Amino acid sequence: MTAGIAEGAWVLNLDTPTLPPATATNTLIVGGDRLLIIEPATPHAREQARLDALIASLLADGRALAGIVVTHHHVDHIGYAPALRDRHEIPIFAHPQTASRLDFPIDTHIDEGWTIDLGEGHVVEALFTPGHAPGHLVVWDRKTNIAHAGDLVAGEGTILVDVSDGGDMGVYLDSLRRMAAHVRAHQADGQSPSFVPAHGPVLDDPVAVLEHYVSHRLAREAKIRRAVVEGGRRAFLGILAAAYDDVPKKLWPIAAMSVEAHLRKLVADGELVRVGKGARPAAG
Ligand SMILES: [Zn+2]
Repeated sequence: MTAGIAEGAWVLNLDTPTLPPATATNTLIVGGDRLLIIEPATPHAREQARLDALIASLLADGRALAGIVVTHHHVDHIGYAPALRDRHEIPIFAHPQTASRLDFPIDTHIDEGWTIDLGEGHVVEALFTPGHAPGHLVVWDRKTNIAHAGDLVAGEGTILVDVSDGGDMGVYLDSLRRMAAHVRAHQADGQSPSFVPAHGPVLDDPVAVLEHYVSHRLAREAKIRRAVVEGGRRAFLGILAAAYDDVPKKLWPIAAMSVEAHLRKLVADGELVRVGKGARPAAG
């Protein structure tokens, strides 16, 4: 099966209504004699048929299905989950903060420390990694050390932190740092974890990606801080223009989401206070 990326791990990249330049979401299936389907995201019938064909071939090998995990509530991560649940009569697992944001029921609420034994040495665990979304989980197969990273990081495009939908920049940065430490600990044990992000190719050096995300966010935050503290910018648009002077204007509507997320973090950190939609130094 061409979808196989390791023994007991299969990935299909299926079209979804997601944020350009990404056009698709990775579905990961892992397990031994029982299989977990992580992120069956596509709402499109032709793409669902591709996943159905892979599942049918795995069932024909004598395997069974144990359930479905959705990493978080966003629309490009959930498209096939309810129908697949009903067809195969298997549970959907998700964090309660995800369940409360969906318009279909979640069968089993899971959180940090949840594990499921899928046979043949495959034990999958959930790692609570909020920030991009309040209920975000990374789902890690201990045997293959392949993890579905959801939208913690991406192989293409960027990860948005949208405060109007429960995003939190400080929490997101904590999750990135924590996962980098977690992967590094496995590497110290001689293992080489790889991440299947929701969007883009498999990441074989997840620590480098996680650390790049942290440094990129902190560099942007430093520009925002400088614009307010040294540049004297107070209005939201002025802060945006100064902090994103290296980015084409057509991307500013998306950049505005990041500015808002960083401003809220800088306020929470005690560095800035809000003035209308903008900000000023806390000490000034
Ligand atoms: Zn998302």
